[in-house]
Amino acid sequence: MDSFMKTSGLKRRVLIVDDELVNRMLVGNMLDSEYDVAYAEDGKVAIDMLENEKFGFSLVLLDLMMPVLSGIEVLDYMRASERLHGVPVIVMTSDKDAEVNSIKHGAVDFITKPFHLPEVILARCERVIELSEDKHIIHSAEKDSLTGLYTKDFFFEYIKQVEHYNSDTQSMDAVVFAIENFHLINEVCGREKGNDVLKTVADLLRKLFKNSAAFACHAEDDMFYIYCNHRESYTDIVDICQESLEEQSRSPKIFVRIGVYAEVNDVVPVETCFERAKLAYTRIKSDYTQKVAYYSSELYEKAIYNERLIADIDDAMQNGDIRVYYQPKYAIQGKTPRLRSAEALVRWIHPDLGMISPGDFIPLFESNGLIQKVDNYIWRQAAAQIKTWRDTYGVTVPVSVNVSRIDIYDPDIEGFLGGLLVEDDLKSSDLMIEITESAYADNAQRLIEVINNLRSQGFLIEMDDFGSGYSSLNMLASIPIDVLKMDMAFIRNMETDEKSLRLVRLVIDIAKFLEVSVVAEGVETKSQLELLKGMGCEYVQGYYFSGPVPPEKFAAFIEADIRAKQKERGKNR
Ligand code: C2E
Ligand code: CA
Ligand code: CA
Repeated sequence: MDSFMKTSGLKRRVLIVDDELVNRMLVGNMLDSEYDVAYAEDGKVAIDMLENEKFGFSLVLLDLMMPVLSGIEVLDYMRASERLHGVPVIVMTSDKDAEVNSIKHGAVDFITKPFHLPEVILARCERVIELSEDKHIIHSAEKDSLTGLYTKDFFFEYIKQVEHYNSDTQSMDAVVFAIENFHLINEVCGREKGNDVLKTVADLLRKLFKNSAAFACHAEDDMFYIYCNHRESYTDIVDICQESLEEQSRSPKIFVRIGVYAEVNDVVPVETCFERAKLAYTRIKSDYTQKVAYYSSELYEKAIYNERLIADIDDAMQNGDIRVYYQPKYAIQGKTPRLRSAEALVRWIHPDLGMISPGDFIPLFESNGLIQKVDNYIWRQAAAQIKTWRDTYGVTVPVSVNVSRIDIYDPDIEGFLGGLLVEDDLKSSDLMIEITESAYADNAQRLIEVINNLRSQGFLIEMDDFGSGYSSLNMLASIPIDVLKMDMAFIRNMETDEKSLRLVRLVIDIAKFLEVSVVAEGVETKSQLELLKGMGCEYVQGYYFSGPVPPEKFAAFIEADIRAKQKERGKNR
């Protein structure tokens, strides 16, 4: 049982209490190959040590006849103590008759002096510890055969057990150590290499935490849990591990990150502490600059909030709480701006939480795949809206819908969108598709395939947020698109920053060169509008004209445009 204690960088502690030095040394010698041995020369010292040791002792070997406090007094003290009553005690005595008495006082076994057979004594200690721990640790397999660290079940049981004897003098951290891209190592280099990486990490952890109270387990494929003395910083640990793993695998490159739930207390169950440390880690996953993340109560609130959104989304779609707003896009090159089309933007009007903006739930639903369901719902609403307006006003306002980077993995996205045209008797040019530029970085091949299929059905493709990523030019060469939608950031800065202005000009030129039209979004002021018009930008979307509004309100823009058209006709007559 104790061999794994050594491999996990931690031996069980045994306290030998005897007033005679020679006895302490004798017993100590027998045990110190297997245990971390401490010594006390009388009962009072023993109790002080028992009370103050962070993880307590796994076993006490106790002499009965001692000055200051006798062995029996120590036994009585321990039995009365909440913290110490579970620590097993083996009494060491030359007096056979003392056996019954000491057992009455709580000893679990005894060995007689003089000490003869070291193996027997060792075996007895081992058995006593085992019995006492088995009361707590019932089913769990102890050790992960690959890393030599604890298994997760055993790890948690063991923490609970040591915490039972913990005097609260030192605070502990729950730490999640993650190897990012670990699956790539397995895929690219094979499982054997992956196993080597895990073994390296386990060895590193053993080494790095050698001098502090710590246990570790191999919790998931690419994740280790560490329960250790509180530290001010974990960056040194990340850095050392990162460096050492980089030596082992340069390509694919692996990243080491840590999530921490600092200063575990006994109010929050330890499993929950690790869940929270993991949550902290997950939150920094997409940010390569951050190596260590701490759990905080805001994170907790956010997680609860997210869970609520996930739980409520189905009902929200059924109840009509998920609404589609429309933001007009205007053609600006004529004498007066004319309504050209609209962008469908989702809004969630939650009965308890109020209006939730897409920035708060789209990334969440992208991370768990729910986005596909939500987007399908929105696209269907948008298609139906085009038909409603056409039926009401006799004109078609084309609507563009947003297609998430996750949606492109839907094997039937083309079928679904095509089906909507049939349902509402629309032309494929009535329903336009906005795909964010960054989808290209995710999976260029799939994106190109989807775009080609959609275009062959007649759909127009708008490249959204153009210029926000790094792959733009490269991408333009390989993706056939119909409209470039310039990233809002250029417009925001173009009047104060010469570079942004030049980039706006450049994007407009690129669009001309590609013979596609260009939309500037985020246009808020008249001067921005004029500037863009002067540069030859064709379409504009932004607060200057209107933010996204519910369809009832959008009707006013359609009516105004119909009046403008009639006026123009009147003039031309
Ligand atoms: P986006 O596609 O780039 O949409 C433009 C965002 O800019 C919208 O934010 C819009 O309300 C906002 N906006 C429009 N004009 C102005 C302006 O003049 N100034 C400023 N500062 N902002 C302006 P919104 O509606 O909060 O949407 C945010 C993002 O959420 C969208 O960015 C899009 O990526 C995503 N999204 C919205 N609706 C959907 C949807 O139905 N499906 C998917 N997959 N994503 C959506
Ligand atoms: Ca968009
Ligand atoms: Ca955009």
